Amino acid sequence: MQTTFLNDQDQEDFAPDHRAGGVVSVLVPYPVDKAYDYVVPAGMVVGAGDYVIVPLGNRDIPAVVWGTAAGDVPAKKLKAIVGRYDFPPMPAVQRKFLDWVADYTMSPRGFVMKMSLSVPAGLEPPAPAKGYRLAGDILADIKADGLLRHLNPKQRAVYDLLSDGHIRRLGEIGDEAGVGTSVVKTLLKKGVVEEVDIYSPAPCRNPDPHRASADLSGDQQQAAQTMQALLDENAFHTVLLDGVTGAGKTETYYEAVAHALKNDKQVLILLPEIALSNAFLERFKARFGCAPALWHSHLTPAQRKNTWRGVASGETRVVIGARSALFLPYADLGLIIVDEEHDPAYKQEDGVIYHARDMAVVRASMGKFPVVLVSATPSLETIHNAWNGRYHHLHLKARFGGAMLPEIHLIDMRSDKPDRQNFISPTLRRVTQERLEAGEQVLYFLNRRGYAPLTLCRTCGHRMACPRCTAWLVEHKSGGNLQCHHCGFSQRLPKTCPDCNDEHSFAACGPGVERIYEEASACFPDKHVMILASDTAESNEELKAMLAQIHSGAVDIIIGTQIIAKGHHFPNLTLVGVIDADLGLAGGDLRAAERTYQLLHQVAGRAGRAQKKGVVYLQSFMPDHRIMQAMESGARDEFLEAESWEREQAHMPPYSRLAGIIVSGREEAQVIAVAKQLGRTSPQGMTESGLSIQTLGPAPAPLARLRGRYRYRLLVNADKPVNLQKIVREWVGGFKIPSTVRVQIDIDPQSFL
Ligand code: ADP
Ligand code: ZN
Repeated sequence: MQTTFLNDQDQEDFAPDHRAGGVVSVLVPYPVDKAYDYVVPAGMVVGAGDYVIVPLGNRDIPAVVWGTAAGDVPAKKLKAIVGRYDFPPMPAVQRKFLDWVADYTMSPRGFVMKMSLSVPAGLEPPAPAKGYRLAGDILADIKADGLLRHLNPKQRAVYDLLSDGHIRRLGEIGDEAGVGTSVVKTLLKKGVVEEVDIYSPAPCRNPDPHRASADLSGDQQQAAQTMQALLDENAFHTVLLDGVTGAGKTETYYEAVAHALKNDKQVLILLPEIALSNAFLERFKARFGCAPALWHSHLTPAQRKNTWRGVASGETRVVIGARSALFLPYADLGLIIVDEEHDPAYKQEDGVIYHARDMAVVRASMGKFPVVLVSATPSLETIHNAWNGRYHHLHLKARFGGAMLPEIHLIDMRSDKPDRQNFISPTLRRVTQERLEAGEQVLYFLNRRGYAPLTLCRTCGHRMACPRCTAWLVEHKSGGNLQCHHCGFSQRLPKTCPDCNDEHSFAACGPGVERIYEEASACFPDKHVMILASDTAESNEELKAMLAQIHSGAVDIIIGTQIIAKGHHFPNLTLVGVIDADLGLAGGDLRAAERTYQLLHQVAGRAGRAQKKGVVYLQSFMPDHRIMQAMESGARDEFLEAESWEREQAHMPPYSRLAGIIVSGREEAQVIAVAKQLGRTSPQGMTESGLSIQTLGPAPAPLARLRGRYRYRLLVNADKPVNLQKIVREWVGGFKIPSTVRVQIDIDPQSFL
């Protein structure tokens, strides 16, 4: 990522108090880059960052006052602002950040701002919910005695429930007293209960930094103290908190969180969505005495509204969220933690294409506070910056409390062959048996949902493919269908081959978790096997229940996808078998090796987290591959150095900068025409200042069709100091692109599909 944002200059803010008759520019939350001029009407005063309502087309919409008027439209033609919210303005640093992100990601500014103004309803004062309690005089017992005799048993149950004086919602009374809502309504008419407004308070208003802080080990303490000292500087720093799984990184950065809270700052903890587990929340509660504010895609509208408002007003002190939480308009943010900083889920691949870890670093630099990147397997970009001294590198060397790191063994699948149509090698079977006999738990990891990734006709060789994507359909036995994991398409498995019409000719090729489940159940018939994948636990509640079952010891063998790889801690789990350690290495992605290493490491970290030592077996067809060797020997840094060296030789990030250009549309000919046109004038050779820039392509994307759209790619690779955005903007911006073709620009691409 480019780091030219590190200038320390504050952006000039315009005079904050534009009175009636003046003109200001207002940014609307739509995919437009420009902030439009509006007149400030009589009786209104607005300042920069104020949330206002402006007419746009034939609607009135919430928007944000962005700056001084552009003055490019005659005053007579301007429309007036129609309303101003009585709400704290969006801070200058937030607006500056949004401008920067728009510029860097080459996205329209309004579109980026929409990620901050994601819950316009939060600007309205919250509508109260109705609550019920015993009426004042009833509670005071004035006429209670007489009344009580007239209550039937159900009414009496409500009376008894409410006699503790608490206010409850209708649903709560129903549940707790076991009555229908009409009973409460009747009591309301009788004057026994009364209705009151209840407002949900902002979440996480009073986390207690002094509560339950852990007794830190020497390493942990040193790391915590360094972070605390950096916090006190009120300056931008990037810290890499690096340590094996179970080293106590969470425990350690909680002390930084506590310190920021003592300094009266808001704190954001970013997690990959998948890791937003209940276990994590419970730990936060135990440490700080209240639940954190959550921000992810499964909140209810009321929760979103309440949290947005709390964050923007400053009442909410700590947010734990997925990547989009970075864009909330914090009133006074003073620390960001990016946990599992290497996780690919931090990259948003549609809409505004951005990397939340990189943008978190930018946000911290603008806010002049520290950002802490946390990982056991840092990304190459991050470790590179730690090695060259740009980041503070804090190390937690050992697992906390003397827990041992697991032993890692390789299984050579070329010689240690499973039975035909099976995937568990004799060795893995044997060690599983031993662990199960000792009463311990086993995890089989396979990062592939469903039963089989490919269904093939044995007669003619026809492969069942998605009609809309360049992808095979994955068989799901649980759903009884074939599914596309890219677009969600699904169909029943046909009785006959669509090509040769042969019956019963389909063969399942390769394993998914369902197939391993079948095999494990057959191998260990008296054991309880469970699949844990994103589609087996439909709801959060269900997932919670499944995890509880594992904790209780009711499950012997867990078959899991990456949903199990993160954050979970099962003390009795001592063996991890990775069914296909080579899985991520196919495909030639720039980061294939790095990602595979990270994922394997993370999965391995599930074994032996407590007193019992863990063992990990990796099944591989290429046990000599440097990743497998690095896993076995635990030589992480050597692996990263080798990887880094290869990237340097190949002139790839972090030694260069990339921009992906994806041209897509429903008409293939049109897509090719646009891609070729772009290709003819693509940046090639040297810039004026002698820096190199090369463009590869156009070529069909590996996912050449996705949801019915044809896709072609170009890839720009430039020396680091090149102003890539400027060059790409001039190049792509010079074309008139037909409205039926989309050209997406992906700065710092992570996916090359
Ligand atoms: P990491 O985030 O590095 O994987 P965690 O913070 O989850 O590690 O710590 C692993 C386990 O060790 C957790 O159960 C945690 O509560 C415990 N632990 C870590 N540090 C301490 C400490 N200083 N005091 C008590 N328990 C600790
Ligand atoms: Zn598809």
